[in-house]
Amino acid sequence: VRILAYESSCDETSTAVIKNGREIESLIVATQIKSHQRFGGVVPEVASRHHIEVISQITKEALAEAKVTWNDLDAIAVTSGPGLVGALLIGVSAAKAASMATGLPLIGVDHIMGHIMAAQLKDEIAYPALALQVSGGHTEIVLLKDPVHFEIIGDTRDDAAGEAYDKIGRVLGVNYPAGKTIDAWAHQGKDTFHFPRAMMEEDNYDFSFSGLKSAFINTCHHADQIHEKLDKYDLAASFQAAVVDVLADKTIRAIKEYQPKTFIMGGGVAANQGLRERMSAEIAKLPDAVKPKVILPELKLCGDNAAMIGAAAYNLYRDGQFSDLTLNADPSMELPYADSMLN
Ligand code: ATP
Ligand code: MG
Ligand code: FE
Repeated sequence: VRILAYESSCDETSTAVIKNGREIESLIVATQIKSHQRFGGVVPEVASRHHIEVISQITKEALAEAKVTWNDLDAIAVTSGPGLVGALLIGVSAAKAASMATGLPLIGVDHIMGHIMAAQLKDEIAYPALALQVSGGHTEIVLLKDPVHFEIIGDTRDDAAGEAYDKIGRVLGVNYPAGKTIDAWAHQGKDTFHFPRAMMEEDNYDFSFSGLKSAFINTCHHADQIHEKLDKYDLAASFQAAVVDVLADKTIRAIKEYQPKTFIMGGGVAANQGLRERMSAEIAKLPDAVKPKVILPELKLCGDNAAMIGAAAYNLYRDGQFSDLTLNADPSMELPYADSMLN
């Protein structure tokens, strides 16, 4: 089964050809980050315009790079939500047009299901699986009963992890998106500030990052007022230690309770070296009886890309879950499914 996939939910326009949900025959990612940086974040209008400009071209490129034609495809997949509505609409329209012109079936894919399925491009997932989904807009612990049935068991009450990185990055004068730089700085500093670890003691799998963000910003403002210069590496290390502590603590607790066969990380923050190292180390310490297999997606597949959408779409294809031409962008779509995604 060969699927052409589209992703345009935020600031990356991407196309990919994926074989059997596992093999990347081609992947094109056109990033717009430079256009948004001077605004300090993603500007929806700017994003939509960039998507329109490149989508036809990168469709041709994905087919050419995979050395296939439309006749070699079995389905067209596209992220239909969540994300920026105007951005999503470009991918959804392109995919619907392609489906209509070729008669190929259409598959609407949840962006977060896509992030989680980036792991499938690396290794086979044994079920049940448990995923820590950490990205710019989401921080969730997700239970995967099988390749298409997901349940959210923990969620953030306020900011997402990636969003927190980007907000404190702004205070430190780091360009959007700040996660990668803060991660690198964290490795050069120490946790000297001991920021709060919110909700660590609570008996649930939820997160909160707004208190940490406020504590961080207050510390910086206070130092400014008394003309004290704080070490940016220690600030980054202290922030990252607080984020990683709560993510790791709750995720390990969930693994002990649900005893999944596979542990997956997905989303932009899954590229975080501190988090990857910590999760791997904590899981290695678990008794063999509850030790899941760990799949950390390739770094370049943690951020937004169409390959992960093609991987998730294959699972939906196998399950017979197709969309029709009434498929619409759903900016606030939530797992497991929005009705808008299915027939
Ligand atoms: P969502 O997927 O929730 O809809 P999104 O698509 O905007 O949101 P992604 O593209 O998956 O999010 O991830 C981008 C986020 O990942 C940004 O907030 C960025 O700062 C963060 N990020 C990227 N690399 C790292 C890293 N090494 N450490 C921490 N955060 C990182
Ligand atoms: Mg992005
Ligand atoms: Fe994303």
